[in-house]
Amino acid sequence: MSGYGLGLLVILFFFGLAGGYVGRVKGSSFAMWFVISFCVPVIGLLTAVLYRYDNQELRRQCPRCQKVVKLYDAVCMRCGQELEFPDVAIAPEARVAPRAAR
Ligand SMILES: [Zn+2]
Repeated sequence: MSGYGLGLLVILFFFGLAGGYVGRVKGSSFAMWFVISFCVPVIGLLTAVLYRYDNQELRRQCPRCQKVVKLYDAVCMRCGQELEFPDVAIAPEARVAPRAAR
């Protein structure tokens, strides 16, 4: 009866926790992946696991505002500058400061 619903909620909660944790480890948002894994438990968690490591992506600097953005970004997140594929890339955050992430 009501015990079934509660059990399901607990399971969903742990799926959310696992997804959120995986997301955070990969340099993404804990809250975002928690919600995704909570709402679509199995698929959400799988997506979090397969999601690219954001802090291991190559980066480059916006030529207009100097903001450091991800290499795969086609448009600067700060000033909206369209970005050509750069000649030089900046090393991923994970390689520059491996223990800085929390
Ligand atoms: Zn910019």
